[in-house]
Amino acid sequence: GHSWIGFSLFDGSLLIDLGRLNQVSIDPQSRTAVIHPAVTGQALNQQLAPHGLAFPVGHCQTVPMSGYLLNGGLGWNWNTWGPACFSIEAANVVLADGSLAVVNQEQHADLLWAIRGAGPGFFGVVTQYVLKLYPVPRAITATTYYYPLERIEEVGAWAEGIAGQLPREVELTIFCAQAPPAFAEQCRSSNGFVCILSATGFFDTPDKAAVTLSLLETCPVIFECLGKDVNQPTTMDTLLDLGGRFWPELHRCLADTLWSNSPPKQQLATVRDAFLQGPSAKSLALCAFSTGVENRMAVLPAAAFSMMAGTLLLCYAIWEQPEDDGVNIAWHREIVAALDPFAVGHYVGESDIIAEPVRAERSFVPANWQRLQSLRRTYDPDGLFHEPYTAG
Ligand SMILES: Cc1cc2nc3c(=O)[nH]c(=O)nc-3n(C[C@H](O)[C@H](O)[C@H](O)COP(=O)(O)OP(=O)(O)OC[C@H]3O[C@@H](n4cnc5c(N)ncnc54)[C@H](O)[C@@H]3O)c2cc1C
Repeated sequence: GHSWIGFSLFDGSLLIDLGRLNQVSIDPQSRTAVIHPAVTGQALNQQLAPHGLAFPVGHCQTVPMSGYLLNGGLGWNWNTWGPACFSIEAANVVLADGSLAVVNQEQHADLLWAIRGAGPGFFGVVTQYVLKLYPVPRAITATTYYYPLERIEEVGAWAEGIAGQLPREVELTIFCAQAPPAFAEQCRSSNGFVCILSATGFFDTPDKAAVTLSLLETCPVIFECLGKDVNQPTTMDTLLDLGGRFWPELHRCLADTLWSNSPPKQQLATVRDAFLQGPSAKSLALCAFSTGVENRMAVLPAAAFSMMAGTLLLCYAIWEQPEDDGVNIAWHREIVAALDPFAVGHYVGESDIIAEPVRAERSFVPANWQRLQSLRRTYDPDGLFHEPYTAG
């Protein structure tokens, strides 16, 4: 599994391996897909592409749909298509008493509510999802501007302003990441890290993409831009491939997230200060902006998934050698603690809810958290499924 915190591994627990449940069946007419849990985002996307259809899969090709959908699923084009869990139309679930529940709006609607975002605390085994699909946008474009890390505050303050003007078809993100070789020399003073402004457009026409993204030229520090790659036509498959480069396989990782309404420039300044001392060149942080819709939660249907804010900040420590565990773990703890005052909540799918169980509760609005606990008591009264929010 892809859980950053190895959530399926608990002492004294039985692990159910669903890896061979990996089939996809697509109905282009009704624009729905029936998928097994172990299907990856890439496998789903590749089978949808010939039908001109798409789904908000996770940003890396290898992420399985199973836990991703349960978490909420913040994938490509989520500003338009919404967190992926809202596109779950039905599911099959094996319950704690061994029965198979067919879950949809008419039957077990409470379980459909829970599947849409309960995260690893879900109290059943999902063996199949029915997903709503979307037409692939005709003009997907990738735009990247590289700025010196020292300018990340200015870029963040300006991006906050334009996020409100950009339509929801634009996924706007600022990365703090290792500089590509072309800028490595210029980024030596910032410990090899660079500020990357990334705007992925999911438009219907190239003209709309070009006009809309011209706003990105208004950054007040554009004259310090180290390099740019503007409005390059791309595909869902290529986007997934790019995502994989930021999060390499077979590495040691720690992840944490926070939703925030604080000024992004403050969050990014904290990130910058930490990365200037970062022990691993592969670590990265990113700040994703909400575009197009003022209060997104208000326009989404009721579901367990209930925590969103102006920005989502994700911070990853990524390194290779076991002997570097200590220094990287300490560094990650420090940056997470420094960012914590900015948080209004967390994302259950990429936060360390084992080390900090309170982060699970803070991934939901209080009423939804209470309802999840109550549903758990109803559907799993004897606690067959591991109670996830206590250290183990
Ligand atoms: C490289 C990488 C990139 C990522 N990118 C994104 C991203 O773009 N957006 C995003 O939202 N998240 C992302 N994630 C996080 C991802 O959502 C979680 O890691 C998710 O748990 C992956 O699903 P999985 O099936 O591999 O989970 P697993 O690790 O297999 O399972 C984790 C837990 O989820 C529960 N679970 C999983 N499947 C089932 C099931 N069928 N029935 C019941 N419970 C189940 C269980 O409690 C299990 O212990 C990424 C993770 C990685 C490592």
